[in-house]
Amino acid sequence: MAGIYIHIPFCRQACSYCNFHFSVSRRQQGVLVESLLKEIRMSCDFFDQQSPAGEAIPLNTIYVGGGTPSLLPVSDIIRIFEALSAHYAFDHNTEISLEANPDDLSREKLKALRQTPVNRLSIGVQSFHLPDLRYMNRLHTPQQAVGSLHEAMAAGFDNLTVDLIYGTPTLSDALWEENLMQLIGLGIPHISAYALTVEEKTPLHYLIRKGRAAPVEDEQTARQYRMMLPLMESRGYAHYEVSSFGLPGRFSRHNLAYWTGRPYLGIGPSAHSYKPGFRCWNIANTTAYIRDIGQGVLPRQSEMLTAAQSFDEYLMTSLRTMWGCDLDRVEALWGKTRREALEKEAARHIAGGLMERRADHLVLNSQGMLFADGIAADMFWVS
Ligand code: SF4
Repeated sequence: MAGIYIHIPFCRQACSYCNFHFSVSRRQQGVLVESLLKEIRMSCDFFDQQSPAGEAIPLNTIYVGGGTPSLLPVSDIIRIFEALSAHYAFDHNTEISLEANPDDLSREKLKALRQTPVNRLSIGVQSFHLPDLRYMNRLHTPQQAVGSLHEAMAAGFDNLTVDLIYGTPTLSDALWEENLMQLIGLGIPHISAYALTVEEKTPLHYLIRKGRAAPVEDEQTARQYRMMLPLMESRGYAHYEVSSFGLPGRFSRHNLAYWTGRPYLGIGPSAHSYKPGFRCWNIANTTAYIRDIGQGVLPRQSEMLTAAQSFDEYLMTSLRTMWGCDLDRVEALWGKTRREALEKEAARHIAGGLMERRADHLVLNSQGMLFADGIAADMFWVS
């Protein structure tokens, strides 16, 4: 089954750490929505290999992300789903997520969103403490964060996922625990907890370099990562991916599809798409995206994946999950020699205490997960 991602590249305010594709100018919002509708029509043959001609393609997940999709008027959100329904089959069993910021989630907005196919909200809380929110240049207040969760649940959204960020210099260990406990106490079924990373060319990178913001310390980040694991597990959340915790049956289907190599189509500027052996990505420039779509051209670059690239991608994504890398799958897709080479490479990490062999899977332990990307890169086919 396939998935669709739709990118809405607008935000009210630039968070200091953010390196996603977005703009705080919403001048192009109306024409961007028209372009998205057009791209949905133009790219409807993307999954053709899996669908007999003429039949709507069943979707497992739809994810509207950004940027800040909750900025869009609900009427535009409905138009996007109407455009999708001309080519794809989805219903209440499909996981349909929309990213939202607390400052957008008024009671009226939530009530209107309930009338759309959206059945899962991903709310960008990041912290319940004002100094953290200010450090990250988030727009909302702690009161709005708490209020939005209560209002979302009162509106009938029981499938919620909330993003938190740790490692912020303003976040003490005690406050980090408070943030987690706040969500646990509310019974939020899924939590994504991200380490604050300082990416180049972000305002945060600039501010730290100029000495105008406190630096992010690796030691604090690692400590707060370690702190949350037993806390979450003791409350029934499975740590099923480096940054993801879910109550039983509440794991993100959309993310699982990414990590298990299912095909997905990305719509909108900067959105990526994938199907076996092939990936493509739209231009990360909203003006150029709108121009190309207006001229009937998909603003995409693409590449056929080599066996080595596919293997590396599988290794990178699978090692981030609690299921790890399936050696039988490696052998079936890339051959016995590749499996043996991988087992040889893995022996070092197993001996180093970061990885375990569980039946025919290589799995990172909680300490190893902290270095998942580096360990995967160390075992790449292409190095
Ligand atoms: S709201 Fe999200 S996408 Fe927008 S600037 Fe903040 S982190 Fe980036």
